[in-house]
Amino acid sequence: MCEMCQSTKLLTRRNLFRLAASAGLMLASGAYAKENKAPPKPENVISPDASLKRLMDGNARYVDGVARRHDFKHEREALAGGQNPYASILSCADSRIAPEYAFDSGRGDLFVCRLAGNFANDDSVASLEYGVAVLGVPLILVLGHDACGAIDATIKSLKDDKPLPGHMPSLVTALTPAVKAVSGKGGDVLGNAIRQNVIDNVAKLKAATPILSAAVEQNKLKVVGGIYRLKDGRVDMVA
Ligand SMILES: [Zn+2]
Repeated sequence: MCEMCQSTKLLTRRNLFRLAASAGLMLASGAYAKENKAPPKPENVISPDASLKRLMDGNARYVDGVARRHDFKHEREALAGGQNPYASILSCADSRIAPEYAFDSGRGDLFVCRLAGNFANDDSVASLEYGVAVLGVPLILVLGHDACGAIDATIKSLKDDKPLPGHMPSLVTALTPAVKAVSGKGGDVLGNAIRQNVIDNVAKLKAATPILSAAVEQNKLKVVGGIYRLKDGRVDMVA
């Protein structure tokens, strides 16, 4: 069982509230870092700007085909007792997007939440809150991508007024605001909706109370957005 699962299992609903409240206080006082045990990856204790630079440097290596060799054996040992990732990624579930590869990062480096359409809902926000308040993550990157099937399906469902089967209408509901915001403006509707969805979810995460918004206000967290280009693997920042 992973550290997060173990921690979560121990938390009752009331304790979760206390965690949120104390995380807010700890963020405010800066006491969290002092009380925490030594991080397994000291090189991951970096500022939001350094985190973004590290992601982009890793992406440049990935694009150029000069990714580093990752010593998984050594990392396994170092990470058995904990984790301190240097960034969180809210990515689409699309099998062509692999954040650890795209940013040339190892295990214990990225706290990744993935769901089709890379949008913030209660569950993804809760996971990202855990990353920030408990693990001390300094950066969240919302990562959309070219030719996103979830957004394309949303466009078609709205256009044809035809609901998708199963549980998929919940994706349509989440992605509809971005599609509606760009519809009727001409141009590449799918590409524009993908970009708008990233921008909207960056804004949503920045404003997510009480944990993420407080961390942003205290300059302990940056929330940014990018789009993964399928043809060459480049990530273009859009927010
Ligand atoms: Zn997608």
